[in-house]
Amino acid sequence: MTVPKVILNNQVEIPQLGLGVFKMQDPKEFKQAFQWALEIGYRHFDTAAIYGNEKWLGEAIRQAGIQREELFLTSKLWPSQFSDPQKAYQDSLKRLGLDYLDLYLIHWPAPGYQQAWLDLEKLFQTGQVRTIGVSNFLISHLENLRVIQKVNPVIDQIELHPYLQRPDLLQYLEANNIAWEAWGPLGQGNSELLQEPLLQDLAEKYQKSVPQIILRWHLQRQTIIFPKSIHHDRLIENYQLFDFQLTPQEMQQICHLDRNQPNGVKPDDPQFLQ
Ligand code: NAD
Repeated sequence: MTVPKVILNNQVEIPQLGLGVFKMQDPKEFKQAFQWALEIGYRHFDTAAIYGNEKWLGEAIRQAGIQREELFLTSKLWPSQFSDPQKAYQDSLKRLGLDYLDLYLIHWPAPGYQQAWLDLEKLFQTGQVRTIGVSNFLISHLENLRVIQKVNPVIDQIELHPYLQRPDLLQYLEANNIAWEAWGPLGQGNSELLQEPLLQDLAEKYQKSVPQIILRWHLQRQTIIFPKSIHHDRLIENYQLFDFQLTPQEMQQICHLDRNQPNGVKPDDPQFLQ
């Protein structure tokens, strides 16, 4: 089973399905999950400096003996690192034990993000990183970048799931040739979402699980996803998405579940990071 690739605005290709490693803190568990993921077929991994586990990811890659070029690896710049993004990037590489990343994101649009973007552009223009992008940016933040940027972000990584669909943002991203990634694609395991009657009916119809229905819906909306799990059965389940297809009508029905309801912190929450 091959995971489809999304072609980014600088022609770099990213696997549309990967594994997120937020809150994977135990090195033994981390390495076991990584090994299972590789065996299942995952080649795209999403981490961040703030997750505190770049070191485990680097060690897991070396232990697995997989070629670096076979992987698509993302990490992120946290706002406390905005004063020196070049150093922050090198520090991430050191922790990972690698000499480049495929994607480096500004993690959060905290004050100073415009200058941080110009610094990321330098990393890109000097060939140190394959692609650069942003995370948790709303239209207003992207508009503020547009007036200064020389390089268009390839991706905006943002919270997205059936309860938070952000149609206006996705329309804006499409119009500006920016791909999008969902964090919290399963609503971070939100039990109400996983018990939605419509999703349960679809799961029954396709003989799939509710998480598989949600993840398939994301894929058919051109969303790049990396649901997180450390469990072998769930890693397999979250990868088995390519042997069925939701109808346009079913896609539309799931769109009606939108409540504009974030599970996590809102990008424009003035209390966050103050
Ligand atoms: P998620 O929606 O992937 O949910 C993960 C949780 O869902 C798991 O802990 C588990 O409880 C449950 N789950 C996973 N697979 C399941 C299955 N098959 N059946 C039942 N339950 C299942 O949420 P997430 O981990 O927050 O998001 C995915 C990734 O996005 C993260 O690991 C991280 O890489 C990234 N992320 C980025 C940001 C950001 O600010 N950019 C924020 C949060 C997460």
